[in-house]
Amino acid sequence: MSTAVLPSAQASAADSLRSIEHWINGRTVAGASGRTAKVYNPATGQVQALVPLASRAELDSAVAAARAAFPAWAAQPPLRRARVLFRFREIFEQRLEEIAQVITAEHGKVLSDARGEATRGLEVVEFATGIPHLIKGEFSEQVGTNVDSWSMRQPLGVVAGITPFNFPAMVPMWMFPVALACGNCFLLKPSERDPSAAVLIAEMLKQAGLPDGVFNVLHGDKEAVDGILEHPGIAAVSFVGSTPIAEYVYRTGTAHNKRVQALGGAKNHMIVMPDADLDQAADALVGAAYGSAGERCMAISVAVAVGNKTADALIEKLRPRIDALKIAAGTDPAAEMGPLVTGAHLERVRGYLDQGKTEGAELVVDGRSSALPKGEGFFVGACLFDHLKPEMKIYQEEIFGPVLGIVRAKDFATALDLINSHEFGNGTSIFTRDGDTARTFANNVQVGMVGINIPIPVPMAFNSFGGWKRSLFGDHAIHGMEGVRFYTRLKTITARWPTGIRTGVDTSMPTLG
Ligand code: NAD
Repeated sequence: MSTAVLPSAQASAADSLRSIEHWINGRTVAGASGRTAKVYNPATGQVQALVPLASRAELDSAVAAARAAFPAWAAQPPLRRARVLFRFREIFEQRLEEIAQVITAEHGKVLSDARGEATRGLEVVEFATGIPHLIKGEFSEQVGTNVDSWSMRQPLGVVAGITPFNFPAMVPMWMFPVALACGNCFLLKPSERDPSAAVLIAEMLKQAGLPDGVFNVLHGDKEAVDGILEHPGIAAVSFVGSTPIAEYVYRTGTAHNKRVQALGGAKNHMIVMPDADLDQAADALVGAAYGSAGERCMAISVAVAVGNKTADALIEKLRPRIDALKIAAGTDPAAEMGPLVTGAHLERVRGYLDQGKTEGAELVVDGRSSALPKGEGFFVGACLFDHLKPEMKIYQEEIFGPVLGIVRAKDFATALDLINSHEFGNGTSIFTRDGDTARTFANNVQVGMVGINIPIPVPMAFNSFGGWKRSLFGDHAIHGMEGVRFYTRLKTITARWPTGIRTGVDTSMPTLG
């Protein structure tokens, strides 16, 4: 966790910094815990703001606001809730450039990527505006004589979202549009590394007419997260982040009787078959491995080349593409890859480069020697390893940086087995022209999201997003109908109206007879 609590000696320098605020009950609220974390501009390496880290008392006040707002919001007709989201959709689209700038300023990703993230988030809002249709129940007439039965989905209450740094707008938008549309109130605990997008979203929701207290943003670190997991006023938690924290959130949240969906880390493989269009595969790999500096849970970090000839040819195609990548501040219109999120993360990624060499992998392209912007920004260039082996740490662990490794597999079965043996199962892809191979792959791979000649198979908003194995803890994937199911409880009603028919007393189990 990148939280840096400021010692008091630095307090005066910190006085001049912008202070980010919580959003509770429809307005900004200054942090009162006395604890803050630094928010960096990754392109310059400078601290640009301080974010408050909430105490339990601040959490209590946010939960109280959400609980107070819940009965009236839940009682709104779904169409009226949808109309707030329709207005939010319009406002968000009009202010998309503003939110993209905020994302780039704190995360570092290039502006076109930030716009893409915001647009993908907006798609979930569009999905959620269909809530009157999505939430309508089922009706069974005459389940017994003069007896009808129907089911309906009701909101859970106050639900919380705990989100990672890498998609400061899109990941919260995987959650709250569906949660709100279903009639819940929402408490968002965004990443403390890039927290401003969350507050901007809260402001837009208010502008769209969302009643105060229905959506709240509480900044914080482990203290806030633990408070959320234990809080009796919170019914469910959606989490997205690294696997160790996802597992912790799942176990702690469920131990406190909450419904939890916790999406974790990844190590996504792309198989390149000998019959693949190698130019297409190389283009796809460069985008999927180095886009957003590799800080995507659906980034491809392992290319499994089937056969040595395929591996050699692929590397020849990758080199010039990697050399041509323009690495610059995300605000530079020509930039294709920006900096990493923090200095600590940059050091971690550099550490993996040394580790890989020690383990015996060949560092074909060392991004530390690429043409990088001058200054203190957290930049590293695109890196390429060859001869990765399953026993290496750089193969097993998620690096979450612009580091692509090539594993050479002797045949398709070995490549498939490699993927199925990995602890993560978020996304994967195959590049081939052969339908049989593609079908066998899709049907047998132990991974939640699969691409065929598609490098980053992120499901659309009306489908659901989620990995397998240690990439997801819980029973529900996120957004789409899985989201509607996660944020609602099923109730089934069976009714008979007095009709003059008397059945008499019967103590046996009711059946049709
Ligand atoms: P992270 O796990 O460090 O942080 C995620 C959230 O957990 C943040 O809000 C953070 O404040 C909180 N947190 C961090 N440490 C904690 C602790 N010890 N106790 C309680 N809460 C804690 O993740 P990150 O670095 O912000 O994001 C990158 C990770 O997220 C990667 O592993 C990436 O694969 C994963 N991710 C997964 C998906 C997916 O859909 N599976 C999507 C995006 C990101």
